[in-house]
Amino acid sequence: MELFEAILAGLKLVTVVLGAVFLFYTWRAYRKYGSPQLLILFVAVLLLTAAAVAEGLMVQVLKSPLDEAHVAEAVLTLAGFGVLVYSLVYRAMRTRTPQSFEGAHPTSDVGGAGADTGTTILDAIRRFDRAGYTGQYRVLDDATIECLVCHTKHAPEELALEDVARVEGTSDPDDEGVVAALRCPNCESKGTLVFVYGAAAPAAEGEALRRLHDARPGHS
Ligand SMILES: [Zn+2]
Repeated sequence: MELFEAILAGLKLVTVVLGAVFLFYTWRAYRKYGSPQLLILFVAVLLLTAAAVAEGLMVQVLKSPLDEAHVAEAVLTLAGFGVLVYSLVYRAMRTRTPQSFEGAHPTSDVGGAGADTGTTILDAIRRFDRAGYTGQYRVLDDATIECLVCHTKHAPEELALEDVARVEGTSDPDDEGVVAALRCPNCESKGTLVFVYGAAAPAAEGEALRRLHDARPGHS
């Protein structure tokens, strides 16, 4: 029996170490990307890791009755899998079809200040900002675009689309979209306009994006 207890203790130890490594990287990724999904995964694995050692700890250390320890383990396992299922449902509910922007531009052919993989919308805006696209635009209900520097309203065709960053998002659909780098024909300022994917995106934005004058090299 001694031998089996030692083997069991060893197996539990390895489980805890693996769980801790997984939790460490999941937490780090969560801090980096801020995705709620990663936090949910973190909680689930925390519960399952706790479940793996709960019985041993309760019986060996806390001297709890064996049946209580069994119940504790079962409850933690159930909670862990419950959180995992919730995570899937959460994902399914939040995943929306990118609709209005499909085929707006035949990208991901992004160059210059544009996106590379693993970027976020905020990263793309910052990169364009460093490249001199410091102004901003907004799309109005009639699909015209207002330059927020000189407050002139333009038909999308009048604005030069100089670069595009297509952001795939990490696991959060709200962080998927297109960041367009534009130049205003009135005040000559350069700035960015963000188009976010998803069902909530106004139709005017999709139309405005499609109608932009593509001034990127090789895209006339
Ligand atoms: Zn302007």
